[in-house]
Amino acid sequence: MERWDVVVVGSGNAALCAALAAQEDATRILVIEKAPREMAGGNTQYTAGAMRFVYDGKDDLLPLLRDPADPRLERTDFGAYTAETFTNDLLQFNEGRALSPEQEVLISRSYPTMRWLAERGVKFEPIYDRQSFEKEGRYVFWGGLTLASAREGVGLFETERTAFEAGGGVVRYDCAATGLLVEEDRVVGVKATTPEGDEEIRAGAVVLGCGGFEASEEMRRRHMGEIWAGAKVRGTPHNTGDGLRMALDLGAMPYGFFAGCHATPMDLHMKDFGNLEIPHGDRKHYRKICYFLGVMLNARGERFVDEGADFRNYTYAQFGRAVLEQPGQFAWQVFDAKVEDLLYAEYRFHDAHWVEDTTLDGLVGKLAGVDRASALQTLQAFNESIMEEVPFDPTVKDGRGTRGLALPKSNWAQRLDTPPFKAFPVTGGITFTYGGLKVDDGGAVTRDDGDPIPGLFACGEIVGGVFFHGYPGGAGLTSGAVFGRIAGQGAARHALSD
Ligand SMILES: Cc1cc2nc3c(=O)[nH]c(=O)nc-3n(C[C@H](O)[C@H](O)[C@H](O)COP(=O)(O)OP(=O)(O)OC[C@H]3O[C@@H](n4cnc5c(N)ncnc54)[C@H](O)[C@@H]3O)c2cc1C
Repeated sequence: MERWDVVVVGSGNAALCAALAAQEDATRILVIEKAPREMAGGNTQYTAGAMRFVYDGKDDLLPLLRDPADPRLERTDFGAYTAETFTNDLLQFNEGRALSPEQEVLISRSYPTMRWLAERGVKFEPIYDRQSFEKEGRYVFWGGLTLASAREGVGLFETERTAFEAGGGVVRYDCAATGLLVEEDRVVGVKATTPEGDEEIRAGAVVLGCGGFEASEEMRRRHMGEIWAGAKVRGTPHNTGDGLRMALDLGAMPYGFFAGCHATPMDLHMKDFGNLEIPHGDRKHYRKICYFLGVMLNARGERFVDEGADFRNYTYAQFGRAVLEQPGQFAWQVFDAKVEDLLYAEYRFHDAHWVEDTTLDGLVGKLAGVDRASALQTLQAFNESIMEEVPFDPTVKDGRGTRGLALPKSNWAQRLDTPPFKAFPVTGGITFTYGGLKVDDGGAVTRDDGDPIPGLFACGEIVGGVFFHGYPGGAGLTSGAVFGRIAGQGAARHALSD
């Protein structure tokens, strides 16, 4: 029977980073993917490719760029994103927990891993259209997130797959891992289902890079509660927790925050899962995350979050849950014409849904499911509370908040007074789950007692301990790359020493 050095389960960013890293030492690497070829690449294919990492000014970015001669670079303020800032960005969501060992690894390996990716052909572009605003003739980046892979997540996935195949790697599609092969307490391969039937695939080591459990309604309910039962899934339908189940069945330690997930406000009328049939540049347009420029109202006509608590990179992944917690699991985002030019393209997407009117009263009358009188009262009270003396500036946390409201808006508060007024209906869409497995320094999956399960490695969404009560945008792909690289190296070493 054919025996591989390493079998990697999944073909998203984390899995392919593991496969590429394994290739540095071992030669016979197989990637198996549950989806057909056109649906491969998991959530990675749906992403905008944005990646968060530590850097110290433009010089650190230049070696990563697809076009280091872009004339806009001369007029761009990228600032710096220090390890300390990354630390604080993660700590603000830890609710008092110290930085976890996984978070420390994520921070310290973020930049070297970006360089490693660039050396393998992945090139990056500044995210001018969504992470910067123009100010006095310059592009000012505002949220510590500056680069995305060229051609977004599709470019990332395709470049990684091409590099892997060029190095002699093999990818099999329609090949779903269903269990682990174990001999004398060692993992020696996977059981798989294919269109031709069930088979056993033997290997010196197995890497689980097959995502979280966000696409399993049963697991969402069990681990996260009833409000998640009907949540839209922003990405692939294939991440149904298969790897997690296989590893737990073998005695792996459940690790991380199982009740937590990344979820964001999404168009109420999007499909139940993300779709790959639309062009990659458009896939992100179902999310609606410019609420910081307006307000959000629930069915009772009330605001329910501080829309301006922080830059949206630090709030959007939590506000999906906040919307799902509202009666009827929907909300309306309300804006006036003053911010029309600042709303990102997702609000002008051909499939975006909205209502509009020339008066606020007329607008609230069109908000399906909302208490009209209460909504009008909320908007009027909001309008009367603005700190008009503080200038509005979306490139910084401008401190232009509200005064006297029980639930304040802390930044970017402006009167809703310029017609036409628009409102967009949203619900909460789950992106990925935070609970998973514990891996050691070499990427091996550990048991409750801390000992590694010989031959079993993991990376990507399935690694627990990286995110808890929130998420700074762009950290998921970086985490996948960092832990993918570690798991691939560990798996290859294990396979060759066996
Ligand atoms: C719409 C959207 C936009 C996003 N934008 C960003 C962004 O810009 N930046 C960022 O950092 N993060 C972003 N994310 C989050 C990001 O996608 C994830 O953090 C990351 O891609 C997960 O990588 P992964 O490799 O762990 O999982 P995936 O990319 O989902 O890969 C898992 C793979 O495993 C396969 N699989 C599942 N079960 C099996 C099985 N039993 N056998 C074989 N294969 C299996 C799946 O089919 C899939 O291909 C976004 C997510 C979505 C949904």
